[in-house]
Amino acid sequence: MAQLLAMDTRAYPTHSRFVDLSGQQFGDVKVKRYLGRRKESIYFVCECVCGNEFAGSSTDLRRGATKSCGCHKRAPKKEKQR
Ligand SMILES: [Zn+2]
Repeated sequence: MAQLLAMDTRAYPTHSRFVDLSGQQFGDVKVKRYLGRRKESIYFVCECVCGNEFAGSSTDLRRGATKSCGCHKRAPKKEKQR
């Protein structure tokens, strides 16, 4: 969790483009709460269906780039192995 602590968690975004994704579901990822900001990206605490917690950027979540903590990429897909 060291990388999470490096973020500026004090600065809760107040600009109009900020969308609080807390409680929303993206694929196997559930957004738990606002985490912080790093540079131009806004991060949320996300929980994967496998139980992993990780920091997900709001940009990636909303465009569908973050659908799991990464466990799906490592696990081989059975559908393709016929
Ligand atoms: Zn996972």
